[in-house]
Amino acid sequence: MSDIYLDYNASAPCDPRVAEAVARAMRDGVGNASSVHRFGRRQAAAIGEARERVAALVGGAPNGVVFTAGATEANNLALAGFVEHALGARPRSALPRVVRSAVEHASVSAPAEALAVAGRCEVEVAPVTSGGFVDLPALSDRLQQADGETLVSVMAANSETGVLNPIAEVAALTHDADGLLHCDATQMVGRLPFDMTALGCDLVSFSGHKICGPTGVGALVGSRQALGALMPTTWGGGHERGLRSGSLNVAGIVGLGEAARIAAAEQAAESGRIGRLRDWFVEALTQELPNVVQNGDVERRLPNTANVRFVGADAEAVLVNMDPVAASAGSACSTGAIEPSPTLTAMGCSRDAAFESVRFSLGRFTTASEVEEAARVVVTAVGYVRRMTTEAA
Ligand code: PMP
Repeated sequence: MSDIYLDYNASAPCDPRVAEAVARAMRDGVGNASSVHRFGRRQAAAIGEARERVAALVGGAPNGVVFTAGATEANNLALAGFVEHALGARPRSALPRVVRSAVEHASVSAPAEALAVAGRCEVEVAPVTSGGFVDLPALSDRLQQADGETLVSVMAANSETGVLNPIAEVAALTHDADGLLHCDATQMVGRLPFDMTALGCDLVSFSGHKICGPTGVGALVGSRQALGALMPTTWGGGHERGLRSGSLNVAGIVGLGEAARIAAAEQAAESGRIGRLRDWFVEALTQELPNVVQNGDVERRLPNTANVRFVGADAEAVLVNMDPVAASAGSACSTGAIEPSPTLTAMGCSRDAAFESVRFSLGRFTTASEVEEAARVVVTAVGYVRRMTTEAA
């Protein structure tokens, strides 16, 4: 049986068209994009094109794109950059505040925590509902208590459940409280339409390898006002509006641009196809197995994601037994953690429920026959793990 990859939310395979663009840029591109000679100017032009494609994908302005080494760096720049700028710009009695949702990715929650521990800011955590959405009345309450300058950080789509947050409403609440909204749109971009300007986002992060682009490249896209409210976190030659110094990764950025171009052109058709495969897959599991429960709201979520609890079957054991089908338990970035998924527990799932939940995420290269085969393999694996668990008891 050949390998079946259902872990796109951890990292999507690179599209061959992107790989070709990256290879071409590495083969043919010479020079530093900051050099004034013709070699440098050609590199800068390639980056300019990528900037336009990236901006178009998220509804931002090309000169608002700050290329980074991925969403983790973009998120860190948004949070630390905002806090340090707020501290430095106008020393005042109240510390700046970061208000984040309870289900943010570690690349938002960890820098928020580190900044708070260092005494640089206050952090407020807005809870989520059992469906997995940020709780708007609770967020509004946190915002009303906010005293210092405020950055709200709420993700567009959750990596574990795929649940979509009401970003336009979050933006309205944030702006009513004179705050800025940072949105980690890493899982949403390229999977559903996302227009930061229409939604009211001030800063948006995303990453190449979730949109079938290269790993190790991403972007923070911001309005002029929001980027002006950031202090650099990397100092040096003043690249990327002074916010992210370092010679630009031309090939990676060209790859990100190509991935963005393809995503913008193909997203609508692709999401429809993938959504049908995902629904067929979950239906097959529910038909064949008793006690299969989906976590998170099933109406407002990404078309490619299903977070499924197999009651009575440990998720890690299921994953090991469903080789060569790849999926994940919890978030891949925190694999090895023995704690249950903070996202699922924040939604009110029990520890048992969290430990019995598997995330399946499909994508561009997933086929109907792979999904049929995967459903058979998963059904067998869950049946086996349940039997072993009962016998051991
Ligand atoms: N945010 C979210 C929601 C993610 O899913 C991920 C990747 N797991 C990241 C940020 C980090 O992205 P990167 O791997 O590009 O640092």
